[in-house]
Amino acid sequence: MGRLDGKVVVLSAGAQGIGRSVALACAKEGAKVIATDVNIEKLKELEAEGIEVHRLDVTSNADIEAFSAKIEKIDVLFNCAGYVFDGTLLDTDEKSWDFSFDLNVKSMYRMCKQFIPKMIEQGTGGNIINMSSVASSIKGAPNRCVYGATKAAVIGFSKAVAVDYVKNNIRVNCVCPGTVDTPSLQDRLNARPDPKKAYEEFVARQKMGRFASAEEIAHLVVYLASDESAYVTGQEFIIDGGWSM
Ligand code: NAD
Repeated sequence: MGRLDGKVVVLSAGAQGIGRSVALACAKEGAKVIATDVNIEKLKELEAEGIEVHRLDVTSNADIEAFSAKIEKIDVLFNCAGYVFDGTLLDTDEKSWDFSFDLNVKSMYRMCKQFIPKMIEQGTGGNIINMSSVASSIKGAPNRCVYGATKAAVIGFSKAVAVDYVKNNIRVNCVCPGTVDTPSLQDRLNARPDPKKAYEEFVARQKMGRFASAEEIAHLVVYLASDESAYVTGQEFIIDGGWSM
C-alpha cells in the first residue's frame, strides 16, 4: 500500500531539482503523477518512471488553460516553479523584480485560480502545496532581496487561500526549505567569481554543515500530499537543517 494510492498529483518544475524528486517520491507512494515544466526534453526522462509529462510555462495563462483542459481529476497541486534573482536591493532592477514576482508568486495565483474551481466541482476537495523558502518572512538571507519578498508573499498567499477554501475541503500549505543541493544551486555557485569559495561560504552557513538533498524536501511534500496531514492547513513548514533557529 502506497501513502498516496488513488491520488492524482499535478506539479510544476518537475524536470529537475525538488520538483523532480517530488514527482518520483509521489509516484513511488502510488500516486498518478502529472509533471510539468518548460524544459520538456529533461522532463521526458520521467516517462520511464510511469509519470505523465506536459510542457507548461506557469507564467502563461494560455498554457495553463490548455493544460487544465486535459486534467480530469486533481487531488494535489504542488506549485514548485520559482527562480532566484541573486542580489541586494541596489542590484535589483525593475525587470528582475517583476519577473521574480511573476514566476514565483503570480504563477501560483494563476494555477490556483485554474484548479480550485475544478477541486470544488469534483466534490472531493483538494490539496495545494506551494514552494516558499526560509529566505522569506522567516529569515533575511544575503543577496535575496526580491527573492525573499516573493517567498514571503507565497506564505501570505497560501494562508489567505487556505482560509477562504477550508470549508470546500481544500487544504493549502507551503514548504520553506533552507539551501537544497539542486542543479540551479550548482549553477548559482558556478556563476560566482570563485565557485569553490562560494561553495564553502554556502556550506559554512548551514548549521548541520551540509545542504539538504532534494529527496529530503520530497519526504515533507509527500507527508503534506497524503492524508496523514489531513488536519493540517494554512501552515508554513520549515525544513532548513536549523538555519533559521
Ligand atoms: P531548479 O531551480 O534547479 O529548477 C527549476 C525548474 O523550474 C527547472 O526545471 C525549470 O525548467 C523550471 N522552470 C523555470 N521557469 C519555469 C516556468 N516559467 N514554468 C515552468 N517551469 C519553469 O529547482 P530547485 O532549486 O529545486 O527549486 C525549485 C523551487 O524550490 C523553486 O521555487 C525555488 O525557489 C525553491 N527553493 C529552492 C531552494 C534551493 O536551495 N534549491 C531553497 C528553497 C526554495
